[in-house]
Amino acid sequence: MYFCPMLENKNPSKTTLSSLGEFALIDHLTQTFELTQESSVLGIGDDAAILDLAEGQTVVSTDLLIEGVHFDLSYMPLKHLGYKAVIVNLSDIYAMNAKPNQITVSIAVSNRFTLEALEELYTGIHLACKNHKVDLIGGDTTSSTSGLTLSITAIGNADEKQITRRSGAQENDLLVVSGDLGGAYAGLQILEREKAVFKVNPNSQPDLSNYAYSIERQLKPEARNDVIALLAELNIVPTSMIDVSDGLSSEILHLSKASNVGFKIFEEKLPLDHEVISICEEFKFNSTTAVLNGGEDYELLFTVPQKEFDKIKNHPLLSIIGHACDLASGCQLVNGLGQQIELTAQGWQSFSDE
Ligand code: ADP
Ligand code: MG
Repeated sequence: MYFCPMLENKNPSKTTLSSLGEFALIDHLTQTFELTQESSVLGIGDDAAILDLAEGQTVVSTDLLIEGVHFDLSYMPLKHLGYKAVIVNLSDIYAMNAKPNQITVSIAVSNRFTLEALEELYTGIHLACKNHKVDLIGGDTTSSTSGLTLSITAIGNADEKQITRRSGAQENDLLVVSGDLGGAYAGLQILEREKAVFKVNPNSQPDLSNYAYSIERQLKPEARNDVIALLAELNIVPTSMIDVSDGLSSEILHLSKASNVGFKIFEEKLPLDHEVISICEEFKFNSTTAVLNGGEDYELLFTVPQKEFDKIKNHPLLSIIGHACDLASGCQLVNGLGQQIELTAQGWQSFSDE
């Protein structure tokens, strides 16, 4: 259930961080976390954690999230932020066709935040750890002069033969994506609109029930461990894989560059939820553009050899959206009229000037 933080009652009787001190804060926030993974030998409390990584190869991924750049706390509840921050990292591990086992969480917080606010953040982190069977094994805590910064590192493992890089796609491989796309972008448009309405009229009570799916895609995304399990069950090792964090176009161009192949995708094959289509109509933007450039859907995009077609053709979790071709043909979208449109990376860019 989405509770709009813009409407939250600010309770003045909350615990300040300065009254607590760093060590009591860490203890308090992490006391409910237990180690569940065999490879976690020692967790929080010493100078370093200890892991016993016997099986397969180890995969590691880190993300850094800055308030005002990557998230907006006026509509992002802290619990959701904690959940999403972990999920985004786990998604990178799944995108290697690996299983995540541990995370570390580092935070920098200003004194604007209370203990209760950080408890919310860690409730979300805890839920993501529980849902994905991942241990919190450490981190760092420091103060910041303004806002909240969050950095998460995820550690996972997989058999060497299972690990899937961006670089293995071959000409004629099928290009497959899980779930549907554009939802997180559509949800963001709704939340930005409500934020603007709220600024003008703080007493407005938004009815967001028609947008529930898209708002959830934005605020509470999931990482596709179910797709990784499905691939294992179907005995398929993708030839290349990436998670959709910046938009389909951008991810296809990454696979193309790393694998030295081109791609052809078909507009009519792009998976869209009906709610996302109606939000696009409401905002008068093209739903294909939302899919290509939207981002933050955290679906998995991968290539498989043609011989796997029968295993995946009618699977409800998977859509075959196109295929790999020669590098010289580039990356093209074929629309309903048979016209080819070159894909460009309009995904979110950290270092753009605006
Ligand atoms: P040090 O001074 O050696 O860096 P800290 O006092 O920062 O140690 O951390 C003590 C323990 O608490 C370590 O195990 C560290 O990994 C853990 N820790 C610190 N901050 C966090 C956090 N925000 N989340 C989870 N664990 C943390
Ligand atoms: Mg430290």
